[in-house]
Amino acid sequence: THFGYETVSEAEKATRVYKVFENVAQKYDVMNDAMSLGIHRLWKDKLLHIMQPQPGAQLLDVAGGTGDISFRFLEYIRSQQDRRKRQAAQSMQALSWQDIPDNYSTENENGPRDSRAVVCDINKEMLKVGKQKADSMGIRAGLSWVVGDAEELPFDDDQFDIYTIAFGIRNVTRIDQALQEALRVLKPGGRFMCLEFSKVKNPVLARLYDAYSFQMIPVLGEVIAGDWKSYQYLVESIRRFPDQEEFKHMIEDTGFCCVQYHNFTGGVVALHSGFKL
Ligand code: SAM
Repeated sequence: THFGYETVSEAEKATRVYKVFENVAQKYDVMNDAMSLGIHRLWKDKLLHIMQPQPGAQLLDVAGGTGDISFRFLEYIRSQQDRRKRQAAQSMQALSWQDIPDNYSTENENGPRDSRAVVCDINKEMLKVGKQKADSMGIRAGLSWVVGDAEELPFDDDQFDIYTIAFGIRNVTRIDQALQEALRVLKPGGRFMCLEFSKVKNPVLARLYDAYSFQMIPVLGEVIAGDWKSYQYLVESIRRFPDQEEFKHMIEDTGFCCVQYHNFTGGVVALHSGFKL
């Protein structure tokens, strides 16, 4: 297999990827903002906008790192619940007391139907930074952190409504194995969503993007995180990842249905999604 453009054994790739994220964990969020000029936040927001999770949904966020997708998921659900409560309160005001049904309750809003987000990542350091971030943001309810490999998930079959993997799948050694695992842990009807760097189609934008990523990202890595090599790997791993159509076929070959993708920022990033029947 490959580590960037180097040919290495599968075990060697896994070890090196682990070291990359162990090294960058403390600076990961700062670097994400610096490298993408903050645009990664918009891509992640768009993922949630397309996902539109409903209260009660169970999310597994694989290669979840410092938790960005799970935080957004829980925030989205909370805002949905708040909106429903406001609507319920408004319609209650419109009713006279005699009209209120005996069994009316808002308990379900926060009770057993509550959503859950599980952040699963192979790297303890990334999860540690994520947990600290969650604490500082005051996010606790409905969130758990699990060390686990995307290729061999530590979960039973048919557990989750949504599986996400954001900027993670290109780091996995056997992508087909990770896709099989995604299919296994999703409930029938569950949705797979993958956000990943992809291929820019517009030749002018492609040249600008190439120049920026090859020349600037390792420099930013060195200046901000003192780590040129890890960021050089990240750029090279992006170049090696299959393009939109090829990745779509890989997802279909795994057994997902209704597979489609959306390009963000001209294809710098693509969101692939599909359903388990
Ligand atoms: N999803 C987060 C985000 O969007 O900010 C983090 C993405 S970060 C670029 C990639 C993550 O993939 C790292 O946290 C790394 O530890 C994790 N990773 C790499 N190989 C993995 C594997 N085989 N199983 C689970 N996580 C893995």
